[in-house]
Amino acid sequence: MSDALLSLTDVVKYFPVQTGHLRRSRDMVHAVDGVSFEVRRGETLGLVGETGCGKSTLARCISRLFELTSGQIIFDGRDISRLRPRQLRPLRREMQMIFQDPYGSLNPKRRVGSIIGDPFAIHGTASGAERKRRVQEAMELVGLNPEHYNRFPSEFSGGQRQRIGVARALALRPKLIICDEPVSALDVSIQAQIINLLSDLQDQLDLTYVFIAHDLSVVRHVSDRVALMYLGKVVEIAPAEELYQHPRHPYANALLSAVPIPDPIAAAKRERIVLVGDVPSPVHPPSGCNFHPRCPKAQDRCVVEEPSLLPRFDDDELHATACHFPVADGEDLSEARPAIGVEHRIVEPDTAGAPTGLGVSVAHGSPGSPESPEPVERRRS
Ligand code: SF4
Repeated sequence: MSDALLSLTDVVKYFPVQTGHLRRSRDMVHAVDGVSFEVRRGETLGLVGETGCGKSTLARCISRLFELTSGQIIFDGRDISRLRPRQLRPLRREMQMIFQDPYGSLNPKRRVGSIIGDPFAIHGTASGAERKRRVQEAMELVGLNPEHYNRFPSEFSGGQRQRIGVARALALRPKLIICDEPVSALDVSIQAQIINLLSDLQDQLDLTYVFIAHDLSVVRHVSDRVALMYLGKVVEIAPAEELYQHPRHPYANALLSAVPIPDPIAAAKRERIVLVGDVPSPVHPPSGCNFHPRCPKAQDRCVVEEPSLLPRFDDDELHATACHFPVADGEDLSEARPAIGVEHRIVEPDTAGAPTGLGVSVAHGSPGSPESPEPVERRRS
């Protein structure tokens, strides 16, 4: 049997944008745009990126809550890309999700025992006293008092509610759990408890996780490998420590420069790279490398040719980067300047009300000197 529990090949998910009186769809939101990777049994793959980069949409494609526009998903040796709702039912036992919002994901009018018991009822695997026994077992497993079986979600704290979500996901002993920002809505001290709980459960139950987050420190702590997404695509994927020590993509470098470091002396010396502009609209993503309007290293080739996700320099085959001009170890990205025309760079609103977004661009950086744009701001963190 293959070591890969989950394998994605060129997964694409577009959403139509309905406009006008007749709600006709002329444009598409390119939410996920050709994502390929594998997740091995027993590992945790961290999926990171800014809000709107497509990571949560990808999670819903993997769990087949969304139909794919194209591409293929193999789960446990079986092609699940085109399964119909009835055929998906057995899959739901083996693949579960933990959601971000421990408040919104639990029905406040139902008792906890009934919420956690849902998977048993839906799949008809246990009823009556047997269901109660298994629910209480799941509650104990995640550190909840089984005596609180009849309580309502409002009687629990935020961390305890997330434990209820974990217990519900674990009820049927799935092989894969997709954790969609499971700790972002929690206090920092509670985040650590939930992360430690997930880690202990992984060892105990031989679970495989896809862990989605926008906090790079959290992802580093929990992941064996990390995939970084930008505008619907994976731009870099590597073993966690390798990515944090040797980031190759300029976007990865910029994000990592903003991660707090505990050493105040090192933090004072470090220069933070702040990219100009916002993420472009996924309705009309930029040509070539979709990061080129914001990239301090962009060159003409980047505007026309999309880079492949490949190992760069002498990186191991597990470390792949989608960049024509990756960042070498020790390279100072804050010294880089884009060598593309101003019309290809990101647009910032100007005082004359120039439009923002794609297709139109003005120089950004040193005010009034478009010939010598400052691609990045340098800040002491
Ligand atoms: Fe994209 Fe070019 Fe920048 Fe690499 S150097 S991230 S290919 S724009």
